[in-house]
Amino acid sequence: MPSIPASPPDPARRPRLLFTDLDGSLLDHHSYDWAPARDWLARLKELGVPVIPVTSKTRSEIVPLRRELGIENAPFIAENGAVAGLPPAWCHARLERGPAADGLVIRTLGVDIGLIRQRLSVWRARLGADFTTMSEMPLDDLVAFTGLSEPEARLARLREGSEPLLWEDSPARLDAFRAGLEGDGLRLVRGGRFWHVTGDCHKGSAVAWLIERFEALRGQRPLTLALGDGPNDMPMLERVDQAVVIRGCHGLPVSPHQLALYRSEAVGPAGWAEGVAHWWGRADRRPGPAVSHASSDGAGRATA
Ligand SMILES: [Mg+2]
Repeated sequence: MPSIPASPPDPARRPRLLFTDLDGSLLDHHSYDWAPARDWLARLKELGVPVIPVTSKTRSEIVPLRRELGIENAPFIAENGAVAGLPPAWCHARLERGPAADGLVIRTLGVDIGLIRQRLSVWRARLGADFTTMSEMPLDDLVAFTGLSEPEARLARLREGSEPLLWEDSPARLDAFRAGLEGDGLRLVRGGRFWHVTGDCHKGSAVAWLIERFEALRGQRPLTLALGDGPNDMPMLERVDQAVVIRGCHGLPVSPHQLALYRSEAVGPAGWAEGVAHWWGRADRRPGPAVSHASSDGAGRATA
């Protein structure tokens, strides 16, 4: 166990972690713009509060994005909880060897993509179900459907632990498909644009895993906030101390079991800034100076 001195047990001095969905939350659903969140991102960085993306995006999509957002020292969760990316300060000397050349350790928390694709083809044949996986979509179609550029769409197809798909069949057959996948230990989760097939992991289990890691490294329980706009964000919103449901563009209900819940008026990054301000913008809830002693990656100096 790394030897990091525990801070005093004063709740006002608790370190903070912020977990956030990207599409439709920190990033605009249509334009992928994040300008309305810029001020809060800068302030959180100053305070040493890690902003941790928890997204259906792939590792390859997140890595350039986190540089652009200025959150490259924070860990991230990719593919709806299937993959975790850890910067050096979040690695545990006993559990992980040194990071790769890009400075990251990648942990697969779910099931390998090869097995998922194999079971999808089994259930397609068995049920005669019509669906198209993201890896089967022609690149032009994927670009048109998501609004991503062609290079971005290519990165979106580099899956490691989950497969998005478009359902093109009846709701009854969807139920049978879901049941079949469950028998294989796989899960079907609704995202903003796609259904996602993953292993037995979700945004909530991945967030719990990261909080546990933080506690192991810092010897202190953090105060946690999560923000999301989709049904696949619910497990994440239920695992934290404070949560924000950002008004969505999809019309799907998002009702997590969470008492400390705020629903934003604005959509996308404006709703994101509104939600952070609701919980942490008031004097009595603002991250205090106590967290500013933490390094900007938030987990301290706990590397091997
Ligand atoms: Mg979303």
